[in-house]
Order: sequence, then C-alpha cells, then structure tokens
Amino acid sequence: MDLRDEARKAQQTARDEILSSKSLDDLKSARTKHLGRKGVLTLLLRKLGQAAPDERKELGRLLNEAKDELLGLVDSRTDELKQATYASDLTGESLDVTLPGRKFRTGRRNLAVEMMNKIVDVFVGMGFTSVEGPEIETEYNNFDALNFPAWHPSRDDHDSFYVGEGHVLRTHTSPAQIRVMKSQPPPVRVVVPGRCHRRDTPDASHLMSFLQIEGLYVDHDVSMADLKGTLAAFAREIYGEETKVRFRPHFFPFTEPSAELDISCLVCGGKGCRLCKQSGWLEVLGCGMVHPNVYKHVGYDSLGVTGYAFGMGVERVAMLKYGIGDIRMLYDNDLRFLSQF
Ligand SMILES: [Zn+2]
Repeated sequence: MDLRDEARKAQQTARDEILSSKSLDDLKSARTKHLGRKGVLTLLLRKLGQAAPDERKELGRLLNEAKDELLGLVDSRTDELKQATYASDLTGESLDVTLPGRKFRTGRRNLAVEMMNKIVDVFVGMGFTSVEGPEIETEYNNFDALNFPAWHPSRDDHDSFYVGEGHVLRTHTSPAQIRVMKSQPPPVRVVVPGRCHRRDTPDASHLMSFLQIEGLYVDHDVSMADLKGTLAAFAREIYGEETKVRFRPHFFPFTEPSAELDISCLVCGGKGCRLCKQSGWLEVLGCGMVHPNVYKHVGYDSLGVTGYAFGMGVERVAMLKYGIGDIRMLYDNDLRFLSQF
C-alpha cells in the first residue's frame, strides 16, 4: 500500500471515530489517537521524507487537508456533545424552568393608618393644612389651655398616663390647636393626625393607644354653618354621596356650643337595624365652636375671631365604613383579617 492509500484510509478511520464518539472523553481520546503528537496522521506526515520527491508535494497537501478537515470535525462534534450534556442535565434534574416563581408578599400600611391618611387627604382637599404635635404633651396644653376643669375625669391619674412633672401622654390631638394658635395669627385652618393614649381597659370599642384627627378653623365670621357644611362634605366623601348627617347637642370643655355628628346608618340607611340600635343613626365624631376661654389662653381673645373644632377616632371611622365590630381586630396583626381590605 503506498502512502497515499494509507493516508486516505487513516483519514476515513479517524473521521468515523470522531463522528461516532459518544462522550467528550471518547472524542478526546479519538483526537489524541489520530491527531496527537504520536497520532496516525502525524506519523504519516513524518514519513513524507520516504516518498519520491515528485509525490511528496501532493501527499503533503493531502495530509494537511485531512488534518484540517478532522480538526473541524472535532470542533463541531464537541459542540454537539456539550449541547446534549446540557439537555440531559436539565431533564435529569427535577428542575422545571416553566414553573412560575413564588409570589413575594409585600407589606402595606395598617387599615387604620390608611384611613387616617385618607381623612387627612379629604380635609387637605378643602383647604386645611396637616400639622403634627408631640405625643408627650404638657398638662397645660392637654387640659388647662383647652378649658378642661380641675374636676374633669380625664385629669385623674386613673384615666391618663402622666410621665413626670407636668407632662402627660396626650389624651387627644387637640393640644396641637394651642401650639398652632400660639405660633401664628389667624386665619388658622389645620388638621392634626396622630396617636393618643388613655388608661382605658381594652374592649370592643376602646384601646389604650389609638389614632385621632383633630380639626381647627379660626378666622373672622366662621359660623356653625361652616362647620356643618365641612363635616357633611367629609361624611359624603368617606361614606358615600347618599350619606345624611345630623348634629346632636353635646358637651365638650373646649367648644361651646358642642355637638356630635351622626351619619345615617350604613346598613339600614336610616330605617333602623341592630347596628344602629333601631335609631337609624351612627355616631361618628365630636365638634363645636371654639370656646372663648381657649382664645384667652392663646392671645386671640381681643381679635374678634370665631372658629370651630372637631375631633374623631380614626379607628371608629374605619370600623363604621368596613363593618368591623371590634376595634382590637385592627391591631391583632391577623393577616387573614387585615388582608381583606
Ligand atoms: Zn341601621
């Protein structure tokens, strides 16, 4: 057999082995066997010297072409075998890349805080400014300046949290009225959202810590009609266009006259049911015209101004809107309950 036949035969054998290799290891040994330093083709190239000079050139070209072809085959077979390995890895492991990912639960504000922000938005829309006051308040701002008499039960140790000489955890956000009026001349039109504290035993309608929003509007010629119009607009905004309101005489130390705002029952619409105790009305908040004694404490008494104030429990507003029977459910942190809203 002359060298030319030997070369053709070696090329064919190498080609078959490369193409039929079943793994990257098989392919590597086939490459070494045929194309390595001691490989068949390499040995043939070394034998070129034995060939007749006129054949040497043609044979050299033939062997180099064979080597190029085989190296190309090794590369393409390597790619094929790698692809097959990835595919079998994917099917071999129990990984389903088409499964949707696990849902990430994002947190959100508590329902009561959401309601507080919503109420503030309603009043800001009517020209009020939102301001805040401190939770530790002076006894003077919390009681005296708001015309709370010495005998008032909330001044008792058993009803409020006193924190050192002359200070109390505010029992309402109303003391911010005093701070605002002392810091600026009229007109004043503010709402004060925030947390308050009282020594109440928690039950279905009381907590030791709760949210309140106070409102105050003081200017020349502010009347009870302005108060009624503003709170009626608020009630319709929160509870719906059909909501009716009524103002019932009441008593608060810092307003005169004072009233409570009722809305038509959200369940029966006013006909009478268990929720409204057959009255057709639900109590929402307290309000009234600012007491002249309050103006004396802030230096407004000689200015001839009038004004109104109101205060509401945020949790109560939310409970009425969503039909929640127990205030404690808002803070029990039961996500099954809270995520309904
Ligand atoms: Zn009712």
